[in-house]
Amino acid sequence: MPLRPADRLSDCKVKNKPKKPFVPDERLETVRKNIISILIEQPLSAKDISGAVRISEKAVNDHLQHIQKSVSRKGLTLIITPSECKKCGFVFEKREKLKKPSKCPECRNEAITEPVFSIKTI
Ligand SMILES: [Zn+2]
Repeated sequence: MPLRPADRLSDCKVKNKPKKPFVPDERLETVRKNIISILIEQPLSAKDISGAVRISEKAVNDHLQHIQKSVSRKGLTLIITPSECKKCGFVFEKREKLKKPSKCPECRNEAITEPVFSIKTI
């Protein structure tokens, strides 16, 4: 069956997709190295790290997730001091996400400490 002109036109549009913005890996690596060297010196929360390396807290959490997986190759380990409920003392130990939880599951309190990250040699 011969193609109608409209079909050819849509084929053409597919080829002109906008490219994703280019983020060089080198820069990401530099940020990670900075975070690692900061955390070796002192334990910090994601908010503190965000201020120190001038990236968003969300970006800090993404980097920390990557760092957590990759530092063991360098003989280092990422230590996470979990969030804690300021009211009843509930500790968010089993939380897999690095982000601070919004509410205590025990008492529904919203005053929760920030998780603190540090890096130590194994
Ligand atoms: Zn609580």
